[in-house]
Amino acid sequence: MTAKNYVIDELISAKAIAARVEALAREISEFYSDTEKLVVVGLLRGSFIFIADLVRELDLPVEVDFLEVSSYGNSTESSREVRILKDLRGEIEHRDVLLVEDIVDTGYTLSHVLDILNTRHPKRIEVCALLDKPSRREVDVKARWIGFEIPDKFVVGYGIDYAQRNRNLPHIGAVRFIDQD
Ligand code: 5GP
Ligand code: MG
Ligand code: MG
Repeated sequence: MTAKNYVIDELISAKAIAARVEALAREISEFYSDTEKLVVVGLLRGSFIFIADLVRELDLPVEVDFLEVSSYGNSTESSREVRILKDLRGEIEHRDVLLVEDIVDTGYTLSHVLDILNTRHPKRIEVCALLDKPSRREVDVKARWIGFEIPDKFVVGYGIDYAQRNRNLPHIGAVRFIDQD
């Protein structure tokens, strides 16, 4: 079968995202007001635009680091383990860590990443996820801060891809496949 045709229906406008990021940054800055230097960890690649916008709104001393893990794709393995593809450059032992994720879907990725990072004994890890699909959750994991709750749709834009495309869309849209006849 050839690649399917699709259109992207706007779900969250660039303006709405910017307003939400500003509000999240205010809450996060307040939460960490006593922290000497926060380590903000972006989970690549989907969070790269979100983290860039978020850290510029934070009124805090921050260090920025990145982690990339393998995605399990459509694997049906029940464990759905993830592997580190690109590790952090810095140490997080005894540090306050804010993990920035694009989407929490089933929760497996976030749960495994938290397990991996917790073996390094950070002082505390909190999570900020741009999008949350609570109806899809299979693992009991929760982000302290969530940008938007969304329905069970496949989304793209604002850093998030479909087959490595559409990351550069300024808004978030839902992919809708079009039947070809
Ligand atoms: P989970 O392990 O929670 O099921 O899924 C986590 C990852 O799957 C997300 O961080 C994201 O990379 C990917 N994912 C989940 N939903 C979507 C979606 O709607 N669109 C895209 N492009 N990726 C998604
Ligand atoms: Mg992700
Ligand atoms: Mg992806």
